[in-house]
Parts: sequence; structure tokens; C-alpha cells
Amino acid sequence: MVEMEEMPEEVIRKYLEAGRIAREVRDYSEKIVKPGASVLEVCSELERMIVEKGGSPAFPCNISINEVAAHYTPLHNDETTIPPDAVVKIDLGVHIDGYIADTARTIDLSDKHVLLLEASREALEKAIETLKPGIRAFELGLQIERVIKRYGFKPVRNLTGHSIDRFRIHAGLSIPNYGDRFSVSKISDNMAVAIEPFATNGKGLTREGKIANIFSVAKENPRKLDEETREVFNYIVEKYRTLPFTPRWLVPVFGEKRVEHAMRVMVKTKTLYVYPILVEVGRGLVSQFEHTILLANGDKIVTTR
Ligand code: MN
Ligand code: MN
Repeated sequence: MVEMEEMPEEVIRKYLEAGRIAREVRDYSEKIVKPGASVLEVCSELERMIVEKGGSPAFPCNISINEVAAHYTPLHNDETTIPPDAVVKIDLGVHIDGYIADTARTIDLSDKHVLLLEASREALEKAIETLKPGIRAFELGLQIERVIKRYGFKPVRNLTGHSIDRFRIHAGLSIPNYGDRFSVSKISDNMAVAIEPFATNGKGLTREGKIANIFSVAKENPRKLDEETREVFNYIVEKYRTLPFTPRWLVPVFGEKRVEHAMRVMVKTKTLYVYPILVEVGRGLVSQFEHTILLANGDKIVTTR
């Protein structure tokens, strides 16, 4: 490994700006996540707020309810409403010029799951405290696992935190939510990471569900796209690069029929990665808290706090 150069002030400023916007929008979500609220309206409003504040969504607003751990985002005609007593995870990404803040919180509409929420929240705090250059990722996972188990819950073992690069939400290094001895990669200075403990009263594992409303570009130069699809593809590449997007964002630009066709072709030709919803295998309730932390020039800054 070559010696890392200093992180430029301009880059740090953009990370901090993205973090501030993500924090404000995440905290606002508590006011609009209510029983009976439309998931489409909640996500649209949060994404609109990100843009109003000068940022861009780094991925579609995720609103994952109860045993759905992650990756649910509404379609443009989604009529789902938030059920009473739901455990709702809001997971948001903001970027400024490709510099990303990724943050999540859980809202317990019943107030019956205080400890489930506290388990993932405290695990996150403990991991942030432990985080420093040179530490191995599994040591963070070990801390997370210990805290969550102390509360009597299980960490979700197949969901992880991650390093972040410019325009790359998952940049290669994973931060496990348990003491995974295979996670030997070391955290380094001048690195942005997202830590996101998930706690559950289920089995501690997720499987892919049938719904998939989040995608990202997998092939930069796909062949075999018809002209109509190619135009949609070019728009996605220009607007979102390799960041995740949802067809909901394309409908106002291209119309429902055309988006449906283009999505079908791009999925079939493996032009896109598909991110199905992730469901807890024991149908347990899942809580999640997430912050983005910037290690820069010897400092540790939680950009989303
Ligand atoms: Mn996230
Ligand atoms: Mn994340």
C-alpha cells in the first residue's frame, strides 16, 4: 500500500455538507412517519428536502417496515401505508459532488420496542468509539455483537457497514455486525465509513424478498439495448452514474410504459444490479441505526451527527 495523501479541505467540506443535510432530513422523518401515512409521500418528501437543501439523493429513500430489514423504496404508484405499531427504518443517502453521507434511524410507533432500538443505537455508538485507523473490521463487529446480545437480541449477520468512496456507496471494505473473523481488512486514515448495526428478535439473518425497486448500473457499455431503452440507460448513467436509483425517479421523465419496458430489458440483459428487499428469515422485528464517519488527516468526524 502506498502512503495515503492528505484529504483536501474541499473534499472534507463536501462530506460535512452532505452529512449535515442527511442529518436534518433524517431527523425530520420522525415528524412524518405516522400510522396511516403513505410510504410514497414520506419518501418523496424526504428526497425533495434533500434537493431543497442543496444535496442530491445518493440512493432512493429506504423505508423498511417491521421484518423488512432494508431496501424497500416505493414505486411511483405505491399505495402502501404505514401500519399501526410499526417499527420503521428510514435510511437516507445524500451526496455533494459524489461525496456521500449515509444515515439511518428507526422509529417505533408502538413504543413497545424501546430496547430493540436501544440495542442497535448503543451498538453504533460503541463501534464509533472503537473506530480508528489500523483497527480491523471484525473488532468493530465484535463490539456491535456484544452490545446487541447484552440486550437479548441478535445482530443481523448478513448485513454490513461499508467504506464509502466518491460516487461509490459500497467501496469494498465491509464492517460486519458480528465478530466475523474473516473481516481482517484494516480501517485506514482518510477513509469514509458507514457503520450500521441491525438488531432483531428473529433469527439474525435476512433473505431476499420478491420485491425489487432499487437498481444500479452494472455494465457501462451494454450491447443489445433497443433505441428506446438506450435513451433511458444514457439518462441513468449521466444522472446517477453507478449510484443506486429507482424507476420511480424515471417515470416523470419518460412515462410509465417506457420505463417499464426499459427496466425489463435492462434487468434481462444484466445491464443493472438488482437490490431486492431483505426480509428477516424468522420474521423478527428489525431495528437499525447508521452514521457516516470520516477519518481524515488524523481526525474522526461523525458527519451525520
Ligand atoms: Mn444506509
Ligand atoms: Mn449504508
